Amino acid sequence: MSSVAPSERRPYKLVSREFHPDDSIIRVGSVEFGGPRVVVIAGPCAVESQTQLLQVASSVHEVGGLVLRGGAYKPRTSPYSFQGLGMEGLRILHQARQQLGLMVVTEAVDQESLQLVAEWADMVQIGARNMQNFSLLKAVGSTKKPVLLKRGVAATIDEWLMAAEYIAAHGNPHIVLCERGIRTYEGKTRNTLDLSAIPVVKQLSHLPIIVDPSHATGHWSWVAPMARAGIAAGADGLIVEVHPNPQEALSDGPQSLTLPHFRELIESLKAVAHAVGRQV
Ligand code: PEP
Ligand code: MN
Repeated sequence: MSSVAPSERRPYKLVSREFHPDDSIIRVGSVEFGGPRVVVIAGPCAVESQTQLLQVASSVHEVGGLVLRGGAYKPRTSPYSFQGLGMEGLRILHQARQQLGLMVVTEAVDQESLQLVAEWADMVQIGARNMQNFSLLKAVGSTKKPVLLKRGVAATIDEWLMAAEYIAAHGNPHIVLCERGIRTYEGKTRNTLDLSAIPVVKQLSHLPIIVDPSHATGHWSWVAPMARAGIAAGADGLIVEVHPNPQEALSDGPQSLTLPHFRELIESLKAVAHAVGRQV
């Protein structure tokens, strides 16, 4: 007789630890999520121009960051806000990739942008707002590209893992989870970073999990402490928004680090990573 009653079995299978007891390492080019090295993904919220992106990309490269982020297709709360450069943004990201040898992650917001992102980038981001867009999850499952799956603002951990299961069930096991804060009654921060999701996900799933302290806090001065807390709690990496001039940013300026603050953050992560047996 099985020791686990059917009702107690996890609703997800492919992404569960029961199915795959060892930690999964997800490879994006030569970058490994889930290995001993903490992966730093950094870049602007949105690609605004070639100059802006290259400036940030050089700084990411300089401090040893491995992956460049930057939205070309932006899911904005207001239809009047900057919606992203689209294809031009993908070309600018690709150029930085070629020049500096960084891997690129960028968001796909629908099936049309997914096809382009899969062709031009190394990793596809599925944003919080699309975490339960099941047709998009199925489509990203068939691309076989590594996926960065952000947690929905009001999604439980089970719902989030079920979203990952959709991608895996459609043929794509290359999934990295990202805790980016959830909506709570607290209004001082943009969201509440659910640090406990890190050990919980680690127990339930073999997939790597990273933390996004930028969207979680909404304010640049709280990004570094929560980034360090995420690494201390066992996260496999970070995704951080950086802008050469946050006051002029077309998207998420208040939570973006300046280039000097970004360098300081990376420096300060080293001791924390070391304390938990990792390196940056
Ligand atoms: C982003 O990464 O810029 C973004 C829109 O993130 P999220 O989907 O977590 O809000
Ligand atoms: Mn953003």
